[in-house]
Formats: sequence, C-alpha cells, structure tokens
Amino acid sequence: MKLAIFDLDDTLINFAATREAAYGCLSAHLDEIGIDSAAFVRACRQVDRPIFALFEQGSISRDEYRLRRFSEPLTAIGVEPWNELVQHLNRLFMECVNDRPMLFDDARPTLARLHAAGIQTAILTNGPSDGQRRKLKATGLTEAVDHVAIGEETGFSKPSPRAFHAVIERFAFDHGQALMVGDSPELDYDAALQAGLRALLLDRDARHQGRGWLSIASLDEVLSERG
Ligand SMILES: [Mg+2]
Repeated sequence: MKLAIFDLDDTLINFAATREAAYGCLSAHLDEIGIDSAAFVRACRQVDRPIFALFEQGSISRDEYRLRRFSEPLTAIGVEPWNELVQHLNRLFMECVNDRPMLFDDARPTLARLHAAGIQTAILTNGPSDGQRRKLKATGLTEAVDHVAIGEETGFSKPSPRAFHAVIERFAFDHGQALMVGDSPELDYDAALQAGLRALLLDRDARHQGRGWLSIASLDEVLSERG
C-alpha cells in the first residue's frame, strides 16, 4: 500500500455524534417556540438519509437538500413549515455541525502513523463543498493529509470509479497500490473494489459482520494492512 484514502463523515469525523449535538441545538430553539422537539428530531432521523441520497444522485440541489431535511420533518409532525423557521434551523445546524465537528479518537494518530510509515494519505468525500471545507478546517484535517477530494468540487462523487481514479492520478500510483477506508459498504467498499482499489470497511459497531466484507473495527487496523 502506497496510498490510504479515507472517507470523511462517520470514518474520520464522528458525524453521528456531531449530528446529535446539532439536533440538540435545534431542539433548544424549537422548545422555546413551543414545537415538539423530540418528535421533530425523530422525524429528522427518518428523512435525512433518503433526502441526502437524492442530493448525491444529483436529483436535487444542495440548497433544496438543506431545506427539505428540516421542512419535511415539520410537516410530518403536523407543523406547517414557514420559510424563516426552516432557514433558521438550517443555519443553527450548519454552525454546529461544520464548525464544531467531533473527530474519532483514532483518526489523527492513524494519519500520523501512516505518514511516519511513508504512506501517502487522502480524504475522498461526497457532500457539499462549503460544509466539508469548514469541517476540514475546524478539525485541522486539511493539513493532516496529502490531498483532499470533494465530490462537488471535482465533479465526481462516490460510487463513480472516476471519483477514486481522480485521487490516485494525483499521486501517479497504480490502482492496486491504493487502499480505500470508509464506513459505507456501497459508496466506500464496493465502489472502491469496482474501481480497482483495495478496500477496508470500517465497521465500528459490528453492523456488517458476516456479509463477506473485509472489515476493521477501528482505524488503528489500517496500519497492519501493508500489502
Ligand atoms: Mg461515511
């Protein structure tokens, strides 16, 4: 392995914990104006992934994703969404998620140890460029890796093989010398294999065991993948 490529959200950044903290920010505001925040957050958890998938597929714009992820939960709990509220919820959420992201404890040590071992590192992430850039800056990850590729900037998002090839071309390595590490079986693992890379599925909660994926429980294990 000459190059280790990492997904960002839920791989290096503990996005689940970060998002829960952000929902807490929204709840405090909703409680103040008399909207059932617990029901709202439950509805958010249900709709966020399907709406984000529409953005990833290019079916809706970034702005539409950001508004619908909060307007649809309001509708679902019987509150007619009004524009000012939806915009305000989105602003609060973005501030919390993008400016105060939480890294997993093993993220920085793993990147440092790979660097010390002479292995190049990169981050490959889908998702809105402005938000991802803010997260990378707030966590210092931009400086901790050799290259960052964001789908919205390069025009190639996972699972497209071109998203992976664009990263590898920066380093002039063969595809087989690159390892992709991420938490998504489809976007990180299967897609990387199809693009000719090697891959490890980061499965911190043992959710995907017994399904044939080569998986690791923590990023420390990337260091033993030296083939
Ligand atoms: Mg991820």
